[in-house]
Order: sequence, then structure tokens, then C-alpha cells
Amino acid sequence: MFSAELDSMRFKAIVFDVDGTLYQQGPVRHALLFRLVWAHVYRPRQGLETLRTLRAYREAQERLRLQAPNVGDIAQQQVQLASDWTGIPPALVRSYVTRWMEQEPLDLLGTCRRDGLLELLSLAAERGLRLAACSDYPAIKKLAAMGIASFFDVVVHAQDVEVQRFKPDPRVLQVALRRLGVHEEEALYVGDRPEVDAEAARRAGVACAIIARRYHPHPTPGCLYLTSLRQLVDFIR
Ligand SMILES: [Mg+2]
Repeated sequence: MFSAELDSMRFKAIVFDVDGTLYQQGPVRHALLFRLVWAHVYRPRQGLETLRTLRAYREAQERLRLQAPNVGDIAQQQVQLASDWTGIPPALVRSYVTRWMEQEPLDLLGTCRRDGLLELLSLAAERGLRLAACSDYPAIKKLAAMGIASFFDVVVHAQDVEVQRFKPDPRVLQVALRRLGVHEEEALYVGDRPEVDAEAARRAGVACAIIARRYHPHPTPGCLYLTSLRQLVDFIR
């Protein structure tokens, strides 16, 4: 049924989550950990402090996902929470995040692109599908580092002034669709976390495909589970 819908050209756009969907996060995280330990081999205390801070920053995002949206700058709220939990000043939290979550990963992303990604993006562009990326973190530099930025018509992230929400709030997806100029029933959203991505898609009224390594015991109804982006290539072709 799903392939028939794709074949019938119901979809005019594909919106992608970025982290874990366009590239594999496991190998990137392992390489970063190795790099971080190596960078602090003579300053192990600072290395441990950096790791603790980055973990708190990620956990702060998971906390903020679950809360009703606050008014104000969501990036600042995430930094402040991580600072409160670790006792590390906000400016230092920000500098660890900038280096280890925004800059250091970039040269690792190209080799960790998901299998079939280039083929999928090329085929989608060939078929006239509009493409967007929507992420909980700024994504433009990551897309450029993967060599795929030119495929995307729209890139939106949680810190965008029009969003200021983390998924599963559907706002980032809704803003992406509006900027693409397509209705919700004309788009397919592709993500990797059912509780975050499939839920955001459900709330936005958008069809969803989840790339998962293995069978999910509690699949989200109406959501397609895939083990590889190559399966989407087959659907579109
Ligand atoms: Mg993801």
C-alpha cells in the first residue's frame, strides 16, 4: 500500500531528520570519544568534565522534549539546565558543546553517511520531490560536511526563531512544510526515533518512515519501519 502511494506521486516532498537518519550516530560517537580522550590525555580531569557536561546537555534536551514549551530561547534553556546540573558556567557549557557537538563531528560525517543516501537524494531530486531537513540541532554545516547540502530546499532546526521547540512537538515539521509550500498529506517524514520522530509526524498529520536497526516491539500505528534508506530508494523507483 505504501509503495502504491509513493508510485501514485501522492508525495511532493520528503522531510528528513538529520542525526541518526542521514548518518549513523554510533560510529561518529565512538570516534569522537576516542578523539576527546586523546585530546585530554594530559588533562584527564578536564576531559571528564567535558564528558559530564556533554551528557548533561543531551539529557537537558530530553527533559525539554517532555515539557510544555516555555517562552524564550530554547538553546539558552538547554545550556542553562546543563549548567544547573553540572555546576559548569553556561559560557563553558556552550564552548564544550560548540567544539564537541558542532565542530569536531563534521569531518566524521562524510564517512558515516547512511548506505543509499546519495542514491535516494539523487532519485528524489530527479523525480521532482522537494527535500527538507529538520533537526533538533543546527544542521546546515552537517549537511555541507556530508556533501549533500545542495539537495535540500529547506533546512529548519529547533533553535529557529519560528520553532523554539524540540520534537516530538510538530512545530519544526510544520515550519518545514510551510517553507516547502506543501500540505501535510503531500509529505513523507523520515526519522530514526519512533518516540520522537514518529510522534512529531503523527501530531503534524504527516506520513512517517522510521529507519530502525531492528524490529520495534511497539511500532507506531501508520508508521513504516525500514532497516535501510535503500528500501526508500526502491519505493520511489
Ligand atoms: Mg534523529
